[in-house]
Amino acid sequence: MKNVGIIGWRGMVGSVLLDRMKTEGDFKKITPHFYSTSQAGQKGPSIDGVDYTLLDANSIESLKEMDIIISCQGGDYTKQVHPQLRQSNWNGYWIDAASSLRMNEDAVIILDPVNRNVIDQAIEKGIKDFVGGNCTVSLMLMGVGSLFNENLVEWMTSMTYQAASGGGARHMKELLTQMQVIGNNAAHMMDGDILKLDAAMSKLLSSHEINTDCFGAPLALNLIPWIDSALENGQTREEWKAFSETNKILGRQENPIPIDGTCVRVGALRSHSQALTIKLNKSVEIKTIEEMIQSSSEWVEVVENTPEATREKLCPRYVSGSLKTVVGRIRKMNLGDEYLNIFTSGDQLLWGAAEPLRRMLNILL
Ligand code: NAP
Repeated sequence: MKNVGIIGWRGMVGSVLLDRMKTEGDFKKITPHFYSTSQAGQKGPSIDGVDYTLLDANSIESLKEMDIIISCQGGDYTKQVHPQLRQSNWNGYWIDAASSLRMNEDAVIILDPVNRNVIDQAIEKGIKDFVGGNCTVSLMLMGVGSLFNENLVEWMTSMTYQAASGGGARHMKELLTQMQVIGNNAAHMMDGDILKLDAAMSKLLSSHEINTDCFGAPLALNLIPWIDSALENGQTREEWKAFSETNKILGRQENPIPIDGTCVRVGALRSHSQALTIKLNKSVEIKTIEEMIQSSSEWVEVVENTPEATREKLCPRYVSGSLKTVVGRIRKMNLGDEYLNIFTSGDQLLWGAAEPLRRMLNILL
């Protein structure tokens, strides 16, 4: 059986990956080895009755023994270790959740329900680096990829509502701690004057009582329209990924579709949502659009454009922990017959991160 090294297994993406691999019986097909950058020698996970001891994720000698490596550790780790491994003539497959390698010419962005043909061609060509896409990009394509594949999209904007867990385990805890402090402070004021309560909460958000080490600003009772680093053109790197990665996944680098928008961190705990404005290149009936989206994969669920269905299903609460991508609020806009309004939600830790990685492992196996 192939030796598979798993790095970053105790982080947010890694934990979800392990969970999915256990559920799908993936560990029965491989000999797993678990690595850590900070806990080498300590106890790792227990899988199928076997207790694993953690190996050193910075040891090139140890990593070189692997046939396949899956890293959910993060971009800095990939930047540091991947080149050293390749320079040491390691010829195994590297599967990664981080963005560092995504735009490399000899790396493929993996989302097999949408681009299995691109993946198969890459394996055939001897490509060895396979990288999961940006979470909002992957979820957008799981929802409305069929419209791109049918060549119906002239351009698109995407306004995102991204959950705290997109930043990782520590970010989730920071949001929950902020909520706890807010709850404790509000509890004794709930029967009093609403303006006093409001003023107290505003003051609290600007005080040192609210820890903002991870997000750099309070997220509870607030939102942050900035994710990742700044680019010279005024975009954030997260916003830049929508254009560059979507077109790379679709194999359209030579003939890219314009995509842009604003990425916003909101106080959802898990699962990202986005509001899409799609300019179609011709008028298409809403019923046809809905059928196209619904039939694109077994994981898509079209949500009726009603208040009841929307409140029930078109939200992080409904999709969190499931492979479902919900697509709703599908309607023509006042802007014209070729302008489509769509809202979509999906679990960014599953299709947006862990699921394409474990599916890539299975494709290679
Ligand atoms: P994370 O939760 O911060 O975990 C990454 C690593 O941090 C862990 O594997 C662990 O490695 C270390 N760590 C340090 N303190 C920890 C703690 N208290 N709890 C758990 N782990 C701790 O990061 P992540 O969200 O999984 O992201 C990993 C990579 O996937 C990043 O490149 C990210 O951009 C990408 N990604 C994330 C998402 C998402 O929704 N979160 C989606 C798509 C892609 P050691 O054992 O080596 O110390």
